[in-house]
Amino acid sequence: MDESKRNYKMIMNIKGTTKITGVFGDPVEHSLSPVFQNEAFQALKMDYVYIPFLVKKENLKKAVDGIKALNIRGINITIPHKSSVIKYLDEIDENVEILGAANTILNEDGFLKGFNTDGKGFSMSLNKDGGFVSKGKKVLILGAGGTAYAIAGQLIREDISRLVVCNRTNEKAILLKKHLKKVFPHFSVETIDFEKRRHKEFLKDVDLLINATACGMKEGNEPIISKEVLHKDLFVYDVVYNRKTELIDMAQTQGLKYLNGLSMLIYQGAVSFEIWTGLKAPVEIMKKYVSSKLQ
Ligand code: NAP
Repeated sequence: MDESKRNYKMIMNIKGTTKITGVFGDPVEHSLSPVFQNEAFQALKMDYVYIPFLVKKENLKKAVDGIKALNIRGINITIPHKSSVIKYLDEIDENVEILGAANTILNEDGFLKGFNTDGKGFSMSLNKDGGFVSKGKKVLILGAGGTAYAIAGQLIREDISRLVVCNRTNEKAILLKKHLKKVFPHFSVETIDFEKRRHKEFLKDVDLLINATACGMKEGNEPIISKEVLHKDLFVYDVVYNRKTELIDMAQTQGLKYLNGLSMLIYQGAVSFEIWTGLKAPVEIMKKYVSSKLQ
């Protein structure tokens, strides 16, 4: 069925009983979540709909109050509200507490619970789509922003043997290291200077390289590393999902195992879906519609 017919069918299915979910962010125009969440609801013939809401910083509190006032079932939270939303929630789970960021809200009879599904989504993607088992592995993360925090915490929980953080602004890498030490006192995180990424030995002994930076989102971004540092046993994961990055291109050319951020996007969305509905998300259907959007 073509897209306009699918959209029409979806809108015609909305009725008084329909449960509303959606995303709050600024910008939200390019969000892919409405595409795959609505397809998932349709595929399972569920009486749910997912709507993007453009919420400016100054309107966040009103928007969160609106979740209760309008009986919205669930909301995803994206840039720039992931941290600032926490103070408006009634309860947060352990992940949100550790990361200081929430990306999912569940409304249970006017009681708002906050979750962070990024770490779990990353891990499910790596394991299910990449066939990669993290336990005992040596990992290097490029980046020290919100996504790096979520991924690093998840990987330590999954018993990796070593974690190195490398960020353009070294102070932020050190903050991440300190944060992880507080949360996981038994685990020692290393940091490495950003310039060292040009050294031949940079990824020696590393099993998994993760680009958790925004580098690669724009065409013409200088590749985050040079191809000379990659080695044949490396798994490359790039969280960027809006285009094929130079890093993914290098990994592909060298015949390495790799995944791009679309896979994580789907799985973190699948975890949100399961929180709102209590049902297993139809991941294959979600994937199908997202990849067709990006072609
Ligand atoms: P963030 O908190 O703003 O952090 C951005 C990070 O990227 C920082 O470490 C920053 O370094 C680094 N960075 C930005 N531009 C760079 C460049 N040109 N070269 C090197 N480093 C650069 O952002 P975030 O929320 O963590 O998001 C990071 C990426 O993850 C984005 O591409 C986002 O789309 C993606 N993401 C993907 C998913 C998914 O499901 N696939 C989910 C969430 C986020 P400095 O500290 O030096 O500024």
